[in-house]
Amino acid sequence: MRAFNFLILAAVAGITFYFYTEAAKTPCEKTLYYSIGEFDGRFDITRDGFLSALKKAEAVWEDPAGLPLFEYDPEARFAVHLVYNESSAKTERLETLDEQIEKTTEEYAALKKQFESLEKIYEQSLAEHNEKVSLWNKKGGAPEDVYQKLTNEENDLERQRRALNELVDSLNSIAREANLDVEKYNQIGGKPFDQGNYTGDAIRIYSFEDEKNLVLVLAHEFGHALGIGHVEDPRSIMHYLMSEENSVRVSPSPEDLFALKAMCQ
Ligand SMILES: [Zn+2]
Repeated sequence: MRAFNFLILAAVAGITFYFYTEAAKTPCEKTLYYSIGEFDGRFDITRDGFLSALKKAEAVWEDPAGLPLFEYDPEARFAVHLVYNESSAKTERLETLDEQIEKTTEEYAALKKQFESLEKIYEQSLAEHNEKVSLWNKKGGAPEDVYQKLTNEENDLERQRRALNELVDSLNSIAREANLDVEKYNQIGGKPFDQGNYTGDAIRIYSFEDEKNLVLVLAHEFGHALGIGHVEDPRSIMHYLMSEENSVRVSPSPEDLFALKAMCQ
């Protein structure tokens, strides 16, 4: 019993000492060891893929700092979790809509091309037909056989015109469908939502579009773990919002680097 008490005291003393020395260092001087915590299988990524994204996110800060800021350790208390929540569902919905919009856009383009070539043929045939008619009219009328031929041509042209109009209807309904999808997309995508967060003892990732985006979200949360807050420049990894401006590349902006430097001093 006594021995047991002694052991507990030793452990507490050790922990106190550990925190004391760590607190004296800047966030850049210590390595943050992290493990992978909850790993929801509903995401389109393997554990290895997630680890590889984590390594890339590490490099975003480690390369410019020239320091080993983060390291994976399966035993680490600090965990990076992959959690499925409403944001994850929203991202999935956005992806589906995005695919749908792309498919509809391709369908529209193909049909439009078909329409344009048919329209060209129709207009040419119509011009030729009208020319023949006006020539015969100048002559005071066409003989019976020619008249019949011209009437057949006219019927054929009318059929072509109707088919073209049907194609226009199809094109318009595809366009309406695409516009509705775009509207839905903007309704969901227009509002910012948390793709991840940092809570001091953990990082939680809720959604990502692809590997590059995941690296960006992880790098953003790693930045918070280093003590970096949000910055103004929308091109920055540490901007509060993921947008077209910062999602196209995964490298720190001058403002990100400035914030890192401030943390590492
Ligand atoms: Zn943030």
